[in-house]
Amino acid sequence: MRVVLVGPPGAGKGTQAARVAARYGLAHLSTGDLLREAIREETPLGRLAQGYLEAGELVPDEVVTDLVAERLSRPESERGFLLDGFPRTQAQAVALLDFLSRRGQRLDAVVLLSAGEEALVRRLAGRWTCPVCARVYHEASRPPRVAGRCDDDGAALVQRPDDAPETIRRRLAVYHGRTEPMLAEFRRRGLLHSVAAEGDIETTFARIVETLEKVRREA
Ligand code: AMP
Repeated sequence: MRVVLVGPPGAGKGTQAARVAARYGLAHLSTGDLLREAIREETPLGRLAQGYLEAGELVPDEVVTDLVAERLSRPESERGFLLDGFPRTQAQAVALLDFLSRRGQRLDAVVLLSAGEEALVRRLAGRWTCPVCARVYHEASRPPRVAGRCDDDGAALVQRPDDAPETIRRRLAVYHGRTEPMLAEFRRRGLLHSVAAEGDIETTFARIVETLEKVRREA
């Protein structure tokens, strides 16, 4: 299966993407994770991307599109993939559809995680991440066993710099301005499936699975 998971910042894309990819044996490709890794490793890509991430702005289309095309060309993506955080603009959506059609492949579904603005801000502001294994916690809904420490490796948890309140607002504005308009094309092609993502992780996951099962039955 080839699936795109899209949604505003804080909708739970990363958490759900990891689960869905594991459930269906798909390659999980998160452009946000790839960019953060490049920044940590101080590669040329990381140096280019850093300012954009810190400001809550999008990295230029050609940069992420090349990054994704390279990953999707790898053998591990042959078994199917789940894109998390890509595409995020009309140009990226067109690039993805062109890339797949050149390879004789098609997209099976675009799953949109939707949640109200208040829930999104609450989630992002309480999010803590392990800098070692990238596991994500939340102060209220998924606290670590020992406050401030990762359950798996004991590392001190950190907040993402782009989860600062002004940057959250900027990321939401970017989502409305640049990502939402892209959805029309997927809707027109009958690929868009909206899933309510305000509840807990299990409920949202069950809804996504239900949606994908339906897509598979109708394929
Ligand atoms: P995420 O982890 O998906 O919230 O992404 C974090 C940040 O990485 C975004 O705010 C952007 O700065 C950058 N980014 C991730 N994916 C993309 C993309 N598809 N296009 C442009 N920038 C991206």
